[in-house]
Amino acid sequence: MGKEADPVALYYRLQDHYGPQQWWPAETPFEVMVGAILTQNAAWERVEVAIASLKQHRLMSAAAICSIGQDELAEVIRSCGYFNLKAKRLQAFCGWYNGREQALSALETVPLREALLAVHGVGPETADDMLLYAFQRPVFVIDTYTRRLFERLGWYPQKSPYQQLQQFVEGAFSSWKEAERIVIFNELHGLIVAHAKAFCKKQPRCMGCPLQCGYEPEKK
Ligand code: SF4
Repeated sequence: MGKEADPVALYYRLQDHYGPQQWWPAETPFEVMVGAILTQNAAWERVEVAIASLKQHRLMSAAAICSIGQDELAEVIRSCGYFNLKAKRLQAFCGWYNGREQALSALETVPLREALLAVHGVGPETADDMLLYAFQRPVFVIDTYTRRLFERLGWYPQKSPYQQLQQFVEGAFSSWKEAERIVIFNELHGLIVAHAKAFCKKQPRCMGCPLQCGYEPEKK
């Protein structure tokens, strides 16, 4: 893949190689939002166990999560790590969300994002996970895998501001229809994660990589 910063070409190249990703793995929008909080600093496999535990304890609703003690909730989600912190964040989110579902869905994307960011424990990546995968809004999620890939592609340093990276990707698709952007951003995020797990790992496995970006680790 050439050095020209082209998220559209990246999307097609990854799509050709990995096929449809069809994220987010959840049964309901609320489950997406719970997963977005639980996956902070945790591998998805551990989050899946915590989500199964919430369901087993009949706690997969905002009202139910608010109805139990924080310590009890922490035990239920123990598998996902940082369980005390995440129990607190989950209850803060559910206390805010409970009963406001319809009003929130009616908000435009910008005020909805601002409202999400004002909730305890919800940062830009978590808010955008929720916006894209639960509220079906055309926002692109920037995560660690995206930062790593963009740096190796020679596009942006890993520590670039979140908003700069997001605007870069969203801008590349600005002429596309909203419905198309929702699908593309959904898929592209999933594709980057798939690529980071298959080839562009912490220690990149460049042989056989579909991007062949020319990254030279020894120079970094
Ligand atoms: S795995 Fe190697 S060739 Fe592929 S994108 Fe990452 S650094 Fe580039």
